[in-house]
Amino acid sequence: MALDPNCLFCKIVRKEIAANEVLRDDHVVAFHDLNPQAPTHVLVIPTSHAQDLSAFTAGADAEQAARLLHAAAEIGARFGPGGYRVVMNQGRDAGQSVFHLHAHVLAGRAMAWPPG
Ligand code: C5P
Repeated sequence: MALDPNCLFCKIVRKEIAANEVLRDDHVVAFHDLNPQAPTHVLVIPTSHAQDLSAFTAGADAEQAARLLHAAAEIGARFGPGGYRVVMNQGRDAGQSVFHLHAHVLAGRAMAWPPG
């Protein structure tokens, strides 16, 4: 999967838009969310464009998918030793607003359940 020149998060991958990054490698970039919903709110994105989880898994890059999960766990453990939450919003009904797959890693406060 290539990058999309019109996609905001692809621009972060290409460093055309600055982000407060916490991790970057060939497979993923992770950066602090601009509108944090917890004391730590980091987004983990694949370095290739997929609009959502369904598109990403249909692309079947198993190595990149595994790396995305590992990166989320690394960041969760780093910022949320007492626990953390990983969320992926798929589609408008789930509240997805940026259509480049991203995992939200939220930590630093107690989380409610069920989510809204
Ligand atoms: O799951 P959803 O698509 O709504 O999440 C998008 C996230 O991207 C939001 O949490 C929003 O604050 C974040 N964002 C960002 N930097 C931008 C645009 C959006 O961190 N430039």
